[in-house]
Amino acid sequence: MTTTQASIPDGLASLRQRYQQERERRVRPDGARQYRDTEAEFGYYAADPYVEGPTGREALHDTVDVAVIGGGFGGILTGARMRQQGVERVRIVEKGGDFGGTWYWNRYPGVHCDVESHIYLPMLDETGYVPEWKYSPGDEIRRHAVRIAEKYDLYPDALFSTAVTSLTWDAESGTWIVATDRGDAFHATYVVTATGTLSDPKLPGIPGIETFQGHTFHTSRWDYAYTGGTPDGGMTGLTGKRVGIVGTGATGVQVIPLLAEDAQHVYVFQRTPSSVDVRGNRRTTAEDVGADHEGWSRERRENFLRIVSGESADRDLVADGWTSSAALLEKLLPSFRREDNGPDFEAAYEVADATKMDELRARVEQAVTDPDTAEKLKPWYRYACKRPTFSDKYYAAFNRDNVSLVDTADTHGIERITGNGVVVGGETYELDCLIFATGFSVGVSGVHSGKLPVHGRDGVQLLHAMAQEGPRTLHGFTSNGFPNLIRMGSLHNASSVNFSHILDEQAVHAAALVAAAEAEDAVLEPSRASEDAWISVLAKDAPDHEWFHAECTPGYYNREGLGRPNAPSAYPHGAVAFHDLLRQWREGSMAEVLQPRTAR
Ligand code: NDP
Repeated sequence: MTTTQASIPDGLASLRQRYQQERERRVRPDGARQYRDTEAEFGYYAADPYVEGPTGREALHDTVDVAVIGGGFGGILTGARMRQQGVERVRIVEKGGDFGGTWYWNRYPGVHCDVESHIYLPMLDETGYVPEWKYSPGDEIRRHAVRIAEKYDLYPDALFSTAVTSLTWDAESGTWIVATDRGDAFHATYVVTATGTLSDPKLPGIPGIETFQGHTFHTSRWDYAYTGGTPDGGMTGLTGKRVGIVGTGATGVQVIPLLAEDAQHVYVFQRTPSSVDVRGNRRTTAEDVGADHEGWSRERRENFLRIVSGESADRDLVADGWTSSAALLEKLLPSFRREDNGPDFEAAYEVADATKMDELRARVEQAVTDPDTAEKLKPWYRYACKRPTFSDKYYAAFNRDNVSLVDTADTHGIERITGNGVVVGGETYELDCLIFATGFSVGVSGVHSGKLPVHGRDGVQLLHAMAQEGPRTLHGFTSNGFPNLIRMGSLHNASSVNFSHILDEQAVHAAALVAAAEAEDAVLEPSRASEDAWISVLAKDAPDHEWFHAECTPGYYNREGLGRPNAPSAYPHGAVAFHDLLRQWREGSMAEVLQPRTAR
């Protein structure tokens, strides 16, 4: 980057001040407690709009080789990679009515993946599928999830519309007892948890939210029975309707242009504007993406991972908004690798950041005709403070007569919801329909939240063990006291904006662990000494980004403005280095995790 401080109009000092002021307009003393869950009394959760209702089946009390909790890409890839290792009985348990996870639930109008489909969709080499668009619509992604599940024969043993309620290690049989909300209590020699990170929809705890008499739902449970249409639009049910939408994150940015086409009027209730960069979606051919040889997709996603992890790459195959801004994502990706730690780095980084954000603010001015609206849509924070978004349709929607932007920053969000509308700045906006694009709770689902209790050896609860000593793992996957339990996710592991790639590497590793345990007739369980060694690797070069997030505008990246906990949670040398480390470790004896079966 060859920018200088002089290229930033008001200089960095005034920019910092502006960022601080904008943060203060939004930060709230109740932090993450401002939200409430979507279950309970007023039906926003709508169970599962995509199935007729749970079909009756007998409760299961049998035994399988591997139980996988979660049927999103993490679970499907685990199943597929287990099959490649010759594992026979793999049972995936999934809350939804089919495979797909995030892409099963999120079918809102405009839903697309904002990571390139040729690297986001896993197992393209294995399935022979070449996506048709640079950025796939949600339906194509969901169909691909099904394609993988069919290819690896994961349907016969899968349990859908079923939630696991507890996991209990049974020392007598050397298996886990998997209990579910459908009365199952089956045994599994190994359990893999792939429960996702952003899966439980959340609602703002706005006073009066439960009193709204119009129609209302969360974007991850889109009610097409009410709106009509499909994820491509055509929502004839909204003709003549006044529609409010709360939330302008990655979801809101995709939904709003399509709502604008069909509703009589759309009120967009915004608290913090997203940064919205160029999308450039287009049809692609196999030739465009070099899909002419075995391994093309693997090469492409490795190339992307190198660039967004800060590693050198001789070319940029994906060449999109993520790769061009990769260095600016450093604070967002805890495992970004940086060679230059010198004192000049932060200053140069801040200038590059300001230049990028300036470019994005200029984009708003060019695209939005009303200057007041344009001003309100400008993002005033550093690039990695919020998830960047991409759209070529979003800003144009605000030039329509039937779209109004209602900025709520001065009141720290919407003041009140009444029976017939939304109150901001003392004014009531009357609505027929109110849609919540308010995102998902972080850390409330799955084994790390306690919502899914895990009782290991001697009845020790995983969550209690973590509360007492902090998280202890080997490579993020296995823990002492919890034999044959493999956890997927970001803890003590690697991360990337292309998370399906991370999940695939994790699935390969999980399957290799199971294959090694079977080959050695062993139990998977690291010693405490192995955990200690791994924790010291994580702590040694852990980046200190807390100061950065403490200065950011509030959001789920910084616990709603409180900054990030500084405990090392990810491998500090980048995802590429982490995957190399795992690969080399697997080529060794894997002895740190293999205990004799008598050690039960
Ligand atoms: P987010 O959590 O990113 O956004 C929630 C929105 O609701 C924010 O704009 C927030 O404002 C707003 N909000 C919350 N409470 C209030 C309130 N009381 N008054 C007014 N506004 C309020 O959720 P999303 O569903 O948009 O995205 C979640 C994540 O899902 C993304 O970060 C991304 O990781 C993923 N995603 C990925 C996509 C992809 O293409 N790969 C597409 C869509 C989502 P504020 O910012 O002020 O808190």
